[in-house]
Amino acid sequence: MIALSDFEILLLALGVLYVASCVHMARYARRTGRNAWLWFFLTLFLTAVPVTLYFYVVYFLQRRRELSGPSDRLRRCPHCRRLISPGTPPDTCPHCRMPLDDEVHEA
Ligand SMILES: [Zn+2]
Repeated sequence: MIALSDFEILLLALGVLYVASCVHMARYARRTGRNAWLWFFLTLFLTAVPVTLYFYVVYFLQRRRELSGPSDRLRRCPHCRRLISPGTPPDTCPHCRMPLDDEVHEA
């Protein structure tokens, strides 16, 4: 017996629900005199492509945020509480000239 995590069970349930909705669409197409297999695969692909693209974009954005260093982010000075734009040298605040420690708060 293969032990599945909660996430894998959720993925399986979503997959079953997804195929069931495609079957439902195919049955509806057959009832209304259309080609059931054509509409089954149309539903399968036309909904899989945007969902795959969505998850790819979400994954890509998250990965880019992880790769970018702390100097690429908008930060807030702990002394004057003003925003420090990305790309500013991380040693002193450009507004109050106070030294910035490593514990600079993110905006
Ligand atoms: Zn400051």
